[in-house]
This record gives sequence, structure tokens and C-alpha cells, in this order.
Amino acid sequence: MQGLASFAPRCRVCGLDFSRYNVGDGPAAFLTTVIGALVVVLAMVVEFSFEPPWWVHLVLWTPLIVLATILGLRVSKAALLIAEHRRQAREATSSDVVKP
Ligand SMILES: [Zn+2]
Repeated sequence: MQGLASFAPRCRVCGLDFSRYNVGDGPAAFLTTVIGALVVVLAMVVEFSFEPPWWVHLVLWTPLIVLATILGLRVSKAALLIAEHRRQAREATSSDVVKP
């Protein structure tokens, strides 16, 4: 089964092989930081403004975190794949070493 945030094997339109791109974990680390900071700020605003019972935070932030992470991963991984494709990025090899 394809995961919600993983690439299809190839493009449905042009057949481009997505497996040759290595996006890695960069988007996940970045998203964790951004979403975490955003949710903490929002939770503090809600807490200090309305002083709701604790379960309100659970109901508000759990779905928001899950949705923001999945959607954010899809968008940011796609953006990185596009950037790699445009720059024709690939693994460095010994032939890439500049000799003095
Ligand atoms: Zn395509």
C-alpha cells in the first residue's frame, strides 16, 4: 500500500521514475519544528484567552497536527523533488572531485 506521504513509483502523466530521487528526511525535521512551534503558540493563545477544559486542547490540536503533518509532508516532499529534478541533482561520485 502506498503511504499518505510517500511517492508513487512513477508519474501518471509522463512516466518519470520518482525512485531515482532521494528527498530524505529533510522535510520531516523542518515540518516538525514549524508545526510544533505553531501549535504551541495557538494552544497558549486558546488557553490564556478561554481557559478551556484540557480535552478541548486534545480535540483541537490532535487532528490539526495530523492533518498539517500529512499535507505538509506531501507538499514539501513534492517541492524538494521538483527542486532536485530542475537542478538534475544526484549522488556525488569520485569523478565529481575537483583535482588541484
Ligand atoms: Zn510527469
